[in-house]
Amino acid sequence: MTSKAGSLARRLPPLPTISDILRMYGIRAKKNLSQNFIMDPRINKKFANAGGSLVNKYVVEVGPGPGGITRALLEAGAKEVHVVEKDPRFLSSLQLLKEAAGEDKLHITIGDCLHYNPQETFPSSLATSWDDPDPPNLALVGNLPFNVATPLLIRLLKAMDTRSNIYSFGRVPSLFTYQHEVALRMAAPPGDPERSRLSVVVQNWTEVDYIFNLPGGAFVPPPEVQVGIVKLIPLREPYITGLPFSFINRVVTSIFTGKQKRLKNSLSIGLFPKKYGKDMSSTLLKMAGIPFDETAINLTMDEIGSICHAYKQLCEDEGIETNIEDIEYNQTTTHDFPNENKTDKNLMQFDIRL
Ligand code: SAM
Repeated sequence: MTSKAGSLARRLPPLPTISDILRMYGIRAKKNLSQNFIMDPRINKKFANAGGSLVNKYVVEVGPGPGGITRALLEAGAKEVHVVEKDPRFLSSLQLLKEAAGEDKLHITIGDCLHYNPQETFPSSLATSWDDPDPPNLALVGNLPFNVATPLLIRLLKAMDTRSNIYSFGRVPSLFTYQHEVALRMAAPPGDPERSRLSVVVQNWTEVDYIFNLPGGAFVPPPEVQVGIVKLIPLREPYITGLPFSFINRVVTSIFTGKQKRLKNSLSIGLFPKKYGKDMSSTLLKMAGIPFDETAINLTMDEIGSICHAYKQLCEDEGIETNIEDIEYNQTTTHDFPNENKTDKNLMQFDIRL
């Protein structure tokens, strides 16, 4: 008979509630960090368990704040939880939780998740092969402000492409909050009116599962938008292979340019010198086997892949420079304070409206 000890969820010693913690340490939500806290332990539990069993897993949580989700992760049986929090005001409450959970259970980093690299933190023995049908014993979670969640998402996709940073450990699943509309776009299949460049870049590297959404009332202070919780599992093989992230992103951005998003118009604007735009985009679509008057939202991943490869070929044939720089991302919506459009200047920004 196998021991059940390792597979049981843990019960932490009694701790003050999250609202008591905030009161004890005199912490008020900072608007410029888009802080909205989940106070209800049942919602934190639901969040922590939404991605599947955490028993004996190593978990990285970004933006723990006062630690509501962190507690739930520990109680769900995680072997170790590693948190990365930008706001040092939460250090004391996280330390309190560390004392309750055990020295080795909770590891606290005060810093920016956009600069976090766990490659040194975890043993290499944790790594599994990218082709392994099972994910590694490592998971990534967080209730982050949207103006951080989206740039983080782009960083994660780039790291998946090169299998670097946290993805040097294999196909690590992630569970993050996004604005409901963004979550819909991430999951939108071809033909869906929500289909956008975000759908394509996310789906090129991951399996997207929009698990559930939370009303604004689940948070304190309440955001003005609904919040979607999305699980991403890196694909063993992206749909579009053999081309770097920046190249694919450039072509996909061009495909989804313009109001009508008709390829005959959009491609001629974004990919070629203005003078030859119409002729070359017509040639490109012929090479890719796509009708000239097709609309971006109807394209399948395979068709988008054909356009990317045809563009690469055409550039080589015509001597067009394909050394593409990263496109600037422009995030305009914060987690919860739509009028509070302050974003960190150092953050890469993503325009969620495209
Ligand atoms: N996890 C807590 C909860 O659910 O109650 C707090 C969520 S609050 C929406 C987002 C948290 O992310 C805040 O604690 C905020 O300070 C933190 N945060 C914001 N930007 C961050 C960044 N770049 N890196 C790490 N943490 C960040």
